[in-house]
Amino acid sequence: MKKELPFLHLKVQESDPFQRGKFIGERVSDKINGNVEIYKKIFKEYANADWDTVQTKALRFVEPIQEYAPEMIEELKGMAKGSDLDLADLIALNVRTEIMFGFSQGVSAECTACALSKNNTTNQHVIIGQNWDWKTDVQKNTIITEIEQPPYPSIMMIAEAGHLGKIGFNSAGIGLCANLLVSSLDKGEVGVPFHAILRKILNSRTFNEAVRAVTLANRASSGNYLIANDKGTILNLETGPGGKENVYYLGSDEGIFGHANNFLVETDFEDKTLGILPDSPARAKNIKHELSKFAEVSVEHIQDTLRNHDNFPNSICRHSEPINQIQTLASIIMDLTEKSMTIAPGPPCENSFTKVYPDFYKKINAV
Ligand SMILES: [Zn+2]
Repeated sequence: MKKELPFLHLKVQESDPFQRGKFIGERVSDKINGNVEIYKKIFKEYANADWDTVQTKALRFVEPIQEYAPEMIEELKGMAKGSDLDLADLIALNVRTEIMFGFSQGVSAECTACALSKNNTTNQHVIIGQNWDWKTDVQKNTIITEIEQPPYPSIMMIAEAGHLGKIGFNSAGIGLCANLLVSSLDKGEVGVPFHAILRKILNSRTFNEAVRAVTLANRASSGNYLIANDKGTILNLETGPGGKENVYYLGSDEGIFGHANNFLVETDFEDKTLGILPDSPARAKNIKHELSKFAEVSVEHIQDTLRNHDNFPNSICRHSEPINQIQTLASIIMDLTEKSMTIAPGPPCENSFTKVYPDFYKKINAV
């Protein structure tokens, strides 16, 4: 029943964005190509869209990404070169959230996340974590990437191969969890995609820079960004597409924060996730409730909470069912103070957790 961490752990040390992308593309070409094949099927199945249509739509996002972070386009060009694909293929992977919800409301990904301040943990560390729930097929193409990229901080993240950014933390002590949100404003319009924003948060040197990565972007889609740092600041940004007018800030008075796939604040627009994922409010409430049971929360307590089966199979620990085939692909806990990531590959009730350290852990902890 237990298995070892199956995710490839890729280390990248290229300061030039194109060379960085090319290095990644060459090393995980099979996985990036595998993801393209998976999304060809998904877009066909859910939106009856062939890949030519997807590519055409994807290329409309080049300009907003170029304006937001030109180095990301260079990195994607390098990844395309290294994996023998077109730039449009790599952009398509990175705008899959926008394309899917622009085409159709039929695909649902789910995640449940949490954050704990120093005052609430047994080791007085800032710890964040989440179950990342998505299509079962994608798991084999998921990788742990460590990127050394001066002048930006170094990153450790877990993501689908080919994605610019995802769940992770950096050497400046900033950590990030993410949840899908869908609102009535999501119409598939062009803007800065979710996965580019995730990367820019991870590229940030300061907490304010990370927040500005969200607020100053002309966002293409809704999304939830749970950002924390090793000094103990925790801020959750619920966003609709557009600019700062559609950003809703949530702090945590008690130092324990939980989030799933619905807006927790009252928004000016309709929260469509409630219709797509009616189980979301219960998961958001449940993760906070479970963690609040402890006077001080340990990593083991978080692991147990991420195994929670209330409302199974649509529980925090999510199990695949025949229709959507969505499950917990990885259960992730990040200690931002220590700079480590503890991961279970798949539903954590069936898979043991393994702790991994980035190379920058040694450098930071040696000082
Ligand atoms: Zn389970």
